[in-house]
Amino acid sequence: MRFSNTIRNMTGGGSDGWDVFRKAKNMVRSGVDVTELTIGEHDIRTDPIILEAMHNAARDGHTGYTTFEGEEALRSRVAARITGRTGVMTTPDHVLIVPGGQGGLFATHHAVCDPGDTALYIDPYYTTYPGTIRTVGATPVSVEARADRDFQPDPDDIAAVAPGARSILVNTPNNPTGVVYTRETLDGIGRVATENDLWIISDEVYDTQVWIGDHLSPRALPGLEERTLVIGSMSKSHAMTGSRVGWVVGPPEAIEHMANLATHTTYGISGFVQHAAAFALDQGTEFEEMIAEPFRRRRDLVLKLMEGQNAARAIPADGAMYVMVDIRATGLSGEDFANRLLDERHVAVMPGESFGTAAAGHLRVALTVADDRLEEAVRDLIDLAGALAN
Ligand code: PLP
Repeated sequence: MRFSNTIRNMTGGGSDGWDVFRKAKNMVRSGVDVTELTIGEHDIRTDPIILEAMHNAARDGHTGYTTFEGEEALRSRVAARITGRTGVMTTPDHVLIVPGGQGGLFATHHAVCDPGDTALYIDPYYTTYPGTIRTVGATPVSVEARADRDFQPDPDDIAAVAPGARSILVNTPNNPTGVVYTRETLDGIGRVATENDLWIISDEVYDTQVWIGDHLSPRALPGLEERTLVIGSMSKSHAMTGSRVGWVVGPPEAIEHMANLATHTTYGISGFVQHAAAFALDQGTEFEEMIAEPFRRRRDLVLKLMEGQNAARAIPADGAMYVMVDIRATGLSGEDFANRLLDERHVAVMPGESFGTAAAGHLRVALTVADDRLEEAVRDLIDLAGALAN
């Protein structure tokens, strides 16, 4: 039987970038004690108070079909959160509840791209981006955020490929680089988007993990509200990765279209999960800071350990649960270095090449193990880089 071109071509062919991750998993399975700094997931589980809210909601009968656009109680809490954090007046009509940020990435691209359209995204990128764009029949075109600009995208590079494109996908705080886009960068992206009539799809799933300065959403910049679709998620902010709940915020007309998409795809998000998410948001910023705190602490720890290092240089990580490390001075690719680090020191990190071409010769270190274990792993990394560079 024949499968559609869309599904067959979704991954774009070649390596999916997860080889080191899989090798580490196999080593763990065969009994090797590997420090895994690969995947972006907390080392804690969802808080018991949230689980209790979920349990109670299920017992109270929230186990049936829900409204496709999301329950009013959750939409209004998301709206209040966004209004409070960005100053942009946001109502439930601006909010669609989706199955996690990934669901939001799919819905937004589906909403703005027709088959054959060009959708822009920044390299280095979160691994699903090009595949998600292909899933809606559009053509992903990347713009490199260069290492020599500490991975801040250059608006002029975006302008060079913007004519005729439909959208630009940006992610700040950024996975994989840990970089937070400056006001200047976002103003530049906004200018290019306006000149070329692009939608800005703003992936803000790390908005509670900003270590230096404040989170800045392009939707809050002058003149950009009507062309910006914001993607948020409970995954990272509330350690609810498995609950699969997030949102898209945008103009009500866009939300109406995406609610139709929900009717014909997800058919809504579980009621008990939405109740738990509303309860979690009610816990306020203190709770969010508690979830983010270990990453802030570990980011400080890693940057301190790497201070003054030349063979392995940390990129200033102003946000997110990762630190990007430049190991080009060792002469090895990120992939070769990551393999040696895994084989020789039993430390698993993601090669920069897993996230496109711009982060080649880099490693992404996820801050997702206990501090003492992380420290040991980073010392191993520094040691190996030093030995190779000499
Ligand atoms: N966007 C970015 C940048 C991510 O790093 C992730 C997950 O790691 C997602 C979106 C998807 O997250 P979720 O679907 O769990 O909200």
